[in-house]
Amino acid sequence: MLAGLARDGGLYLPAEWPLFSKAEIAALKGKPYREVAYRVMQPFVGNTFDEMTFRRLIAEAYASFDVADVAPLKPLDDNLHLLELFHGPTLAFKDVALQLLGLMLDRTLSQRHAHATIVGATSGDTGSAAIEAVRDRRTIDIFMLHPRGRVSEVQRRQMTTVLAPNVHNIAVQGTFDDCQDLAKACFNDLDFRDRHALTAVNSINFARVMAQIVYYFWAALKLGAPDKPVAFAVPSGNFGNVYAGYAAKQMGLPVSHFVIATNTNDILARFFETGTMTASEVVPTYSPSMDIQISSNFERLLFDLYGRDGRALADAMTAFRATGTLKVGANALGNVREVFDAGRLDDDGTLAAIASCRKRYGETLDPHTAVGYAVAQQHRRDPSVPMVVLATAHPAKFPDAVQKATGERPVLPPRLADLYQRTERVDGLPNDVAALKELIDDRMAALESRPRVRT
Ligand SMILES: *Cc1c(COP(=O)(O)O)cnc(C)c1O
Repeated sequence: MLAGLARDGGLYLPAEWPLFSKAEIAALKGKPYREVAYRVMQPFVGNTFDEMTFRRLIAEAYASFDVADVAPLKPLDDNLHLLELFHGPTLAFKDVALQLLGLMLDRTLSQRHAHATIVGATSGDTGSAAIEAVRDRRTIDIFMLHPRGRVSEVQRRQMTTVLAPNVHNIAVQGTFDDCQDLAKACFNDLDFRDRHALTAVNSINFARVMAQIVYYFWAALKLGAPDKPVAFAVPSGNFGNVYAGYAAKQMGLPVSHFVIATNTNDILARFFETGTMTASEVVPTYSPSMDIQISSNFERLLFDLYGRDGRALADAMTAFRATGTLKVGANALGNVREVFDAGRLDDDGTLAAIASCRKRYGETLDPHTAVGYAVAQQHRRDPSVPMVVLATAHPAKFPDAVQKATGERPVLPPRLADLYQRTERVDGLPNDVAALKELIDDRMAALESRPRVRT
C-alpha cells in the first residue's frame, strides 16, 4: 500500500486469492455496504489494522458519500441494471477506493511518524479523487500531473480549486501517457524515490483494486449470488476497475463474464479479438478517462496468461516497451475469452447511447457509462443472466457531451454547485522529467521550512 509500484518496476499481487465459500458469500446477503466491505477486504488487510480500526476507517471513508448504501443498484429493466459508483465527493467511481486508501495511508504514516509524497498522473478522474482523499493531511503531499487541455473543465476545476497546502497540481504539455511516463520516471530514480518517500495511488496500487472488489460482491449479492451468476459491463481505461471484478471471480463470486467496453482508444478490444496488443496514438474522445493506450493494470491479467511466471512476464513487457507489440498464444487467449468479451464505441455511438438510454429508461448516463451501456447490449451471452453496467461517473461531470446528446445540461449536485466560481491554482510544465523533479525538490525543500511538524 505504501509503495504502490514495486521497486523493480513490477506490480504487486497477492500470492494467492482468498477464497470465499458459497456459505460465506450467502452470509453477506442483506448486509450493509460497510459490512460487506469489511468482510471482503479483511483477508487482504490481515492484522495491518485491528478490526475496530479497520471498521472505523471504512465507516469514515463512506460517510463522505451522499447515499447511505454507497453504491446503489438501479434496475433499468428486469435483467439490465446500473451500479451507481459516482456518489462520492468527486462524482466518479475512483472515490470508492481512494477515500478509503487516503485514510489507510494517513493512519499508517501517522503511526510511523512518517511523511510520504504521492506522485501521480491522471487522465481526469483519478486526480481529483486522490486530491480529495488526502487534502489537508500533514502526513502526505500530493503532486498530480494532468495533460493540459485534455481533461474536462469540471475535472480540472475539481483538482485545481483545492487550495490545501499539501496539494500541487501540474499541467503537462503532453498526453496522459506522457504524464504517466513522467511519474514512472520519478519512481524509477531510486534516489529520488527514497528522498521523498514516493508513493503511488493510481490504479496500480493494489489497495485500490482491493477496495473495488467490494462492489462486485455487493451488486452480485443483490441479484442472487451465490446461487445465480451475474455479468458485468465495465467502461475501461487502465483496466483497474474490471480487474477488481476478475479478482472477485477468483475469490469465488459467480460471474458469468465481464464485458470490457472501450472508446475509440481500443487497444483492449483489439487484444481480445486478436491476442495481440499493439499500442497506437491516443485519440481524445467524449470519455477522456478512457483515453488510454497502455492499460497499466492489464499487466496483472497478463501475469495469469503467462502462467504466473513473473520472469516471463517481465521479459514480455520489456519487449512490448521496445517494439510496441505483445502477442499471447491461442490457448491463453482462449482461456481469457471465456471470462471476457470486449467491444468499442466511438463518439457518435456514445452520444446516441446517452440519448437512447434517456429515451428508453429516463436515465441520463455520463459518456463513460454510455460506452459500457451500449457495448453491454452487444454482449449478452445469456439473456436470463442479469447484466450490471458499472456507472462510473455522474453525468454532470461531462456536461458538454451530455448536453449534445440530450439537449439538456445536467446540473452538478449541491456540494459542487459553486465549482465554476472557485479560485484555481496550477503549475504548467513541459513534458520533461528534469523539470518535474526540480519542481518537486523545490516544493519539498520549502515544506521543510514551513512552520509545521513533519509527521
Ligand atoms: C477511471 C475511469 C474509467 C476507467 O477505469 P479503469 O479502472 O482505468 O479501467 C472509466 N470511467 C470513468 C468515469 C473513470 O473515471
